[in-house]
Amino acid sequence: MRQKEISLTIQPIKSFDDDDLDHPVGSHDTPLRADAFDLTDDEKINKIEDHFREIMTVLGLDLNDDSLKGTPRRVAKMYVKEAFSGLNPDNRPTTRLFENKYNYDQMLVEKDITFFSHCEHHFVPIYGKIHVAYFSSGKVIGLSKINRFVQYFAKRPQVQERLTVQIGKELERVLGTTDVGVVVDANHMCVASRGVGDTNSKTGTAYFAGKFKDENVKREFLNYINAK
Ligand SMILES: [Zn+2]
Repeated sequence: MRQKEISLTIQPIKSFDDDDLDHPVGSHDTPLRADAFDLTDDEKINKIEDHFREIMTVLGLDLNDDSLKGTPRRVAKMYVKEAFSGLNPDNRPTTRLFENKYNYDQMLVEKDITFFSHCEHHFVPIYGKIHVAYFSSGKVIGLSKINRFVQYFAKRPQVQERLTVQIGKELERVLGTTDVGVVVDANHMCVASRGVGDTNSKTGTAYFAGKFKDENVKREFLNYINAK
């Protein structure tokens, strides 16, 4: 793996709320319209099915072909129920916190959480690993919950920077602490399979808040996730 190199290219994201000309997006929220959930999931699936059939037809494909005729509905269901299910706040994971009864006051790291997302500019996959660390505020979270939060925000059309910040902010909120670090190490199919066609490059982003702004704490986290 190329993880050793990755930590060197990580660009910490301060905050999307900052006046940052490189990121004209005004916040870390996914841009959704107010009427985003006026349609039910089933209504959305029916509409997307019609539109996707139209795309395939325009491309010249014969929708009477056995192999193709079910594709519009399959794609529509996949978009609404799987790939973009994290757009719907109804799917946000619920949390239960536990007492930190072992009085463990060191860094807790969960590394190598696999995620699959979609680039919002090309609607092709972004996938990779996410590493999360935090210091307990007195409460701890079930480890599988961290995976669920990662998947919830991954299942949206995304840009990697926003995904990173959304996971960090959500964990701060849920864990009741700002002592949260997130590192995202991703492959972008829009870079690998088209355009420049670079199949080897990876993109690193990070979110460091609270204690993780301290160089030593940050290094401890990065050393841990780079360890084999
Ligand atoms: Zn893209």
